[in-house]
Amino acid sequence: MYSSFKFKHFHFFIIFIFILHVFAATPILSFNNFLESAKSPEVFDWMISIRRKIHENPELGYQEFETSELIRSELDKLGISYKHPVAVTGVIGFIGNGMSPFVALRADMDALAMQEMVEWEHKSKVPGKMHACGHDAHVTMLLGAAKILKEHEKEIQGTVVLVFQPAEEGGGGAKKIVDAGALENVTAIFGLHIAPELPIGEVASKSGPILAGSGRFEAKINGKGGHAAIPQKSIDPILAASNVIISLQHLVSREADPLDSQVVTIAMFQGGSAFNVIPDYVTIGGTFRAFSKQSFNQLRQRIEEVIVGQAAVQRCNATVNFFDESKPSYPPTVNNGDLHEHFVNVAVDMLGINKVDSVTQPSMGAEDFSFYQEVIPGYFFMLGMQNASNNRFDSLHSPYLTINEDGLPYGVPLHASLASSYLLKLHGPK
Ligand SMILES: [Zn+2]
Ligand SMILES: [Zn+2]
Repeated sequence: MYSSFKFKHFHFFIIFIFILHVFAATPILSFNNFLESAKSPEVFDWMISIRRKIHENPELGYQEFETSELIRSELDKLGISYKHPVAVTGVIGFIGNGMSPFVALRADMDALAMQEMVEWEHKSKVPGKMHACGHDAHVTMLLGAAKILKEHEKEIQGTVVLVFQPAEEGGGGAKKIVDAGALENVTAIFGLHIAPELPIGEVASKSGPILAGSGRFEAKINGKGGHAAIPQKSIDPILAASNVIISLQHLVSREADPLDSQVVTIAMFQGGSAFNVIPDYVTIGGTFRAFSKQSFNQLRQRIEEVIVGQAAVQRCNATVNFFDESKPSYPPTVNNGDLHEHFVNVAVDMLGINKVDSVTQPSMGAEDFSFYQEVIPGYFFMLGMQNASNNRFDSLHSPYLTINEDGLPYGVPLHASLASSYLLKLHGPK
């Protein structure tokens, strides 16, 4: 009895080993395969040419017409179906069996209104516009992932949704993508940003808040202009605006919890045009940042109260504009804890444990990726694109930014693996 029981179990054991062997022998969605494919000359050279084409022709938010066209023509060549236009220039592609579950990967497409100062063969051909935030690389890597995922389409246990979104730089393109219903039924979304200070083959992220919520404001402080030598006949908006600025600096230093990082910066001050004339009004403007919605809303309310109240002390009246329609505030970018675990597993498997910084320092920068995270779990991470040969410090939004194209093949398999293995996980035992 005892021995036959053992024998029976031995049989089950053999069957189990056989099943394991069959699964192990099937090269489904292997992370290393993805990395190898992305590094192959066929994929790498194709990506370089796409990235350079986009870099030469930068387009600002909601004007990414040619970039969008290029994306669609590559998707056509790959046989990938898509929706267009979504949010003006956006393209939403689909790879897989067309059925649930759906997982999304995002790339932003827009450039910045600045003049490229780097002299190289593929410098921006549009004066005053430059891909200085690396969104040309983001589009390229998502197309790379699309190519590799398409080759494995039959193995995808659900559908990967490719989100090519417009207007990340201030235009809140992500919000328009959400409003267009493009993420309905999507379970999770992943996004990445190039990091010119991080070495190639390395990634960095964290669970919870990683980027701040960001808002902008402009205030008009109205006084009464007059002769600069007869101030008693005027109401001086320059002095009022100066006091407003000083008072605004007390919000973070005196009202915020010192352990809850916040920023208020006045970056614009415009008023007056002559040495001997007190102007009628002054315009000031700036940005404010916080890591929680509560702190952000509190800061916004106090900015308005301080501007209006402090202007009144000097007999001026003030109006404050937060650009809710044209430049919506970005919520804080907050990474989902379960997706963080998934990301760390995928990235460590692919790159090795010492290449994955999973507790990176958050930054007061902002991202409209946060709009996706307001409606579904989302995860955002930094991808190394350091240019080791460059001794000048490269930073995003710098007219001197050069990115190391050798980093492109790493974003591709990360995108592809994050999505495909997430779908596999959803199908696995709960
Ligand atoms: Zn940017
Ligand atoms: Zn960016």
